[in-house]
Amino acid sequence: MAFLERYGSEGLVQKARRFAETAHQGAFRVSGDPYITHCLAVAETVAEWGLDEPSVAAALLHDVAEDTSHTLADLERVFGAEVKFLVEGLTKLKTIPSNEGEEKAENLRKFIVSFAEDIRVLIIKLADRLHNMKTLAALPPDDRKRIADETIEIYAPLAYRLGMQKLSGELEDLAFPHALPEEFAWLARAIQDPYEERLAYAELLISKIRSLFATHRIEPVALDARAKRHYSLYKKLIRHDMDVTKIYDLVAVRIVMPTVADCYAALGAIHQEWPPLPGRFKDYIARPKPNGYRSLHTTVFCVDHKITEFQIRTLEMHEEAELGIAAHWAYQQARNNPEGTARWEGMRDRKELRWVEQLRNWQNALGNQEEFVQSLKADFFKDRIFVLTPANDVIDLPAGASPVDFAYRIHSDLGASCVGAKVNGKMTPLDAELRSGDIVEIISQRGKKPSEDWLRFVKTAQAKQKIRGAIRNSDRRFKERAESRVISFHVTNEDRPGYLKDVTAIFGNARVNILRLASNTDPRRAFASVLVECAEPSKDAVEKLLVKLKALPGTREVHCTHHDAARPLRRGGGRGDRGIPRRNKK
Ligand code: MN
Repeated sequence: MAFLERYGSEGLVQKARRFAETAHQGAFRVSGDPYITHCLAVAETVAEWGLDEPSVAAALLHDVAEDTSHTLADLERVFGAEVKFLVEGLTKLKTIPSNEGEEKAENLRKFIVSFAEDIRVLIIKLADRLHNMKTLAALPPDDRKRIADETIEIYAPLAYRLGMQKLSGELEDLAFPHALPEEFAWLARAIQDPYEERLAYAELLISKIRSLFATHRIEPVALDARAKRHYSLYKKLIRHDMDVTKIYDLVAVRIVMPTVADCYAALGAIHQEWPPLPGRFKDYIARPKPNGYRSLHTTVFCVDHKITEFQIRTLEMHEEAELGIAAHWAYQQARNNPEGTARWEGMRDRKELRWVEQLRNWQNALGNQEEFVQSLKADFFKDRIFVLTPANDVIDLPAGASPVDFAYRIHSDLGASCVGAKVNGKMTPLDAELRSGDIVEIISQRGKKPSEDWLRFVKTAQAKQKIRGAIRNSDRRFKERAESRVISFHVTNEDRPGYLKDVTAIFGNARVNILRLASNTDPRRAFASVLVECAEPSKDAVEKLLVKLKALPGTREVHCTHHDAARPLRRGGGRGDRGIPRRNKK
């Protein structure tokens, strides 16, 4: 294979190739190809991604310890500790399984421990998975389905989180027809605007953009239009009630410009010619995605009024978007030492890789293997949303997460003590679903305990775990009170900054646990209303609270009502109507 010529005949890579060739001698894949073709393909991908020699050697040897008579100790003797470590991370444990699920969970856990220590293990594994997906057709249908499901649930999201967006999309598209055959067939029929038609449109588009740029003296480095990927379209359709007529941007245009300034110039020219759709312009250059992705995105009414998406970026951003963390890896390696001994240590502090650390801590905290894998699928790898703190820090959460999840993600004390949330400046119930781009501010009460009720709607394993822990630890007296009667304070006040915080401080000082806090600002009037629900304290305490609330600057009126806790609390103003319909997995 051509890529091997890069490496000297006495070096690590060629030595690994010879070793692997001998070890897999006489072994064949299900497709009938000699087994070594798989090892070579994986190694070629790893080399293309710019990884170092030990990684390419490990890619060549990745199935040796699992499938041949050679042991990891043999590999260490011949290739040293580093290559052995990488191969070990890629080798499944051979346990005597009590059941299949448990064995799988244990293998995944071991794999995560390895790549948390050295991210190269994950990158090689993704190259392995890519080749397995490309050659999936040779396997029997049941195996295809299982491997495709795993690819969509675990490996494509992992690639995405490494910033390897192209790989992530490619893995999903390779898996889609096998994981969801009926849905795939349906989608292929539904986007009837046939592929040829989209292709013809793409060509027309390219020539129009070229002449537009010529008049503005804009010279792109590269320009291409492509039909969108199937699986990403399918995910979009799920969000739009499977209504194809709501999806217009079946074609996406990608423009690569020499500099950042050129990117904005190109954007200006496009917007001048074709009106943008409101709310669809995203400046990921000024504010990169948490996985490091940078680009300008806009959607416009384009040629023939067709709705078309544009992505504009520099060459460096483009390479990062294609290769993600592997691109950083290659840069760093080229810069630091030509011998190629860059280490994970240098990568560990990268902001977009903090989740690797988080993942490791988390798998330490959850003892139960099955539970770990379940929450991993349900939480860590699920569709993500990105919300902001008032200080503009980006917080990464699973789709459907609530302000309580947000609070726990910031700090477990903030989670435990939250009583209300302002989303984009408006008071929002704690069980509301957050959306990407929301700015979330948590209102907390000192000394407050988490509510058991939160378990009904929180989405993150972290929040669930902390809430359960707090409930176990809270004393019975607290529980009995919470289960008895509830009192609601209704306050009318002048709308002034800090008023809500003052209210929660009054309850905090009285050591009264707030169960629910809501507030309403009527823009037509000069005053607002605040509702505080809490477990009913003593009559004396209620009197004191009323006096303090009345004395608070800005208070107009206060009264309270009592009711049984058994009566379900009224919930309103939420965004419960935007639940995401999910298709049942078979
Ligand atoms: Mn393999």
